[in-house]
Amino acid sequence: MNKKELEDILKEVLSKEKKNLFTFLTGAGISAASGIPTFRGKDGYWVSGSKNYKAQDIGTYKMFQVASMEVWKWFLYRKSITEAAQPNTGHHKLKEIEDLLQDRFVLISQNVDSLHKKAGSSAERTYLIHGDFDFVRCGDECSRELYPFPEGIDLKNRDKDIITEAEWKLVRCPKCGEDLRPNVLWFDEYYNEHYFKSESALRAAKNTGVLFIIGTSGATNLPMELARTVLQYGGYVFDVNIEDNQFTELLKGKKRAVTIREDSSVFLEEVETILKRIV
Ligand SMILES: [Zn+2]
Repeated sequence: MNKKELEDILKEVLSKEKKNLFTFLTGAGISAASGIPTFRGKDGYWVSGSKNYKAQDIGTYKMFQVASMEVWKWFLYRKSITEAAQPNTGHHKLKEIEDLLQDRFVLISQNVDSLHKKAGSSAERTYLIHGDFDFVRCGDECSRELYPFPEGIDLKNRDKDIITEAEWKLVRCPKCGEDLRPNVLWFDEYYNEHYFKSESALRAAKNTGVLFIIGTSGATNLPMELARTVLQYGGYVFDVNIEDNQFTELLKGKKRAVTIREDSSVFLEEVETILKRIV
């Protein structure tokens, strides 16, 4: 697609009165340049004693029920990486595009690393469909309240994975005393509106004029559903990824589907440049 064609689509969506949202769906690909590993690939393992876990095994409610401390150690290790990371050009471009589009902008992210927040994306227009490392909740669901990540807990690395007694006391639900848990969607759990804004994301998809899929392969079902919904309701879908993925098959032969195989930050810069001129 050349710049003129891209500009025509952006103009068309801008001119619409309905179904005129610009929705950006982001995944691990956008955070890779900030040094965040995907945890699905080779960095997804966790060693404890003689056991070697895969992310798909340890990042589960089932594991939390039998070994909550082990799950917390893994979580604190992951959080130590995201905490130290800084947003990159892609995150900054999205924040600038939000500033241009205001209420026509929606950001749906599968990332739990808080980098969109660090780049300044607003909480109101961001749906974190896989949760957020900055919040915890009762692991026993005694209430649906979210609490900020407790202060006074040292983030861990792979070599120093000890949780002290004092730290472990901080990981208690203030209401019932059970273990707190990170507010993230685990591999054996389902999406919901209260914690993950899944209904809001689907509603946005129905009102989307153009969806940009940035750095996500569509390995989970809600992102796929979002792309399907946008197409069904007459919007455009751009697949901006460095390689083919599970969206590729969905988009094949669709009139309003566009495949972009380039660095997403370069593409987002193009979008921003055009929007600056036409908004
Ligand atoms: Zn509780």
